[in-house]
Amino acid sequence: MRKTDLVRFRRIFTEQKNQILMNSGMLDEGFVNSPEDKDEVDQANANIEQAMRLQLRNRETFTLSRINDAIRRIDEGSFGRCDTCDEYIELRRLQARPTTTLCISCKEEEEKMNASAILGHRLQAVH
Ligand SMILES: [Zn+2]
Repeated sequence: MRKTDLVRFRRIFTEQKNQILMNSGMLDEGFVNSPEDKDEVDQANANIEQAMRLQLRNRETFTLSRINDAIRRIDEGSFGRCDTCDEYIELRRLQARPTTTLCISCKEEEEKMNASAILGHRLQAVH
C-alpha cells in the first residue's frame, strides 16, 4: 500500500478514536451528575439507562480495540493484507470498512461457514 494511503488511514483511525473517547467522556459525566435520591420508578429507569450505557460502552470498547489493532498493523506494515490468505485487501473495500482484516473472498468464505453453522444448529433443533 502507498505511504499516502497509510497516512490517510492512520488519520481516519485517530479521528475515530478521539470521537469515541470524547463520547465516552460524556457518558461518564452523565453518571456523576445523576442524583442519589430516587424512588423505585426512577431507580428502574436508571437501571435501564445504565444497562444501555454499558451496552454502548461495550460496543465502544470493541470498536476501540479494532481501531487500535488497525493502527498497530499500520505500524507493523501488515495493514491492508488479509489475515487468512495474506493477499492485499482491495483499497475500495478498506475505504468502506477500514478495520477489516479479511479480503472479500475470505470474508465471503467466513460468512458462508457462519451461515451453514447457524443452519446446522437449526436442523439439529428440529430433530
Ligand atoms: Zn483472504
